[in-house]
Amino acid sequence: MPERATRKYHGTPRYKCKNCRRWLTADQFNGGLGNRCRGCDKGRKRAWRAANPKRYAMMTKCHGAIRRAIKRGEMKRPTRCAECGGGKRILGHHPNYKQPLRVVWLCDTCHAERHKEAA
Ligand SMILES: [Zn+2]
Ligand SMILES: [Zn+2]
Ligand SMILES: [Zn+2]
Repeated sequence: MPERATRKYHGTPRYKCKNCRRWLTADQFNGGLGNRCRGCDKGRKRAWRAANPKRYAMMTKCHGAIRRAIKRGEMKRPTRCAECGGGKRILGHHPNYKQPLRVVWLCDTCHAERHKEAA
């Protein structure tokens, strides 16, 4: 868990959302306690989707292709991250959405890093 400014209300730690500047409990943030709360994250994703409809459609298609390949047993979701070897939630990252079945399996943290670089 990253170092975060915390405040305690009645013994419960609160974390500040950098976007809406509200102090919220951990369950109001996505896993890993990002800088934005769930609500702000959702809004940001929605805005991105509206701004990049083609890319979003491609992503959805790729994610569907992976899901189907796993279902058919052609692919296996590993239990470890390809980058740090961590075994939290593993996500399939597409370095190139033109190759829907080529994915790198990364944990939440490494995946977020990749997207920071790419963005
Ligand atoms: Zn917020
Ligand atoms: Zn990792
Ligand atoms: Zn990705």
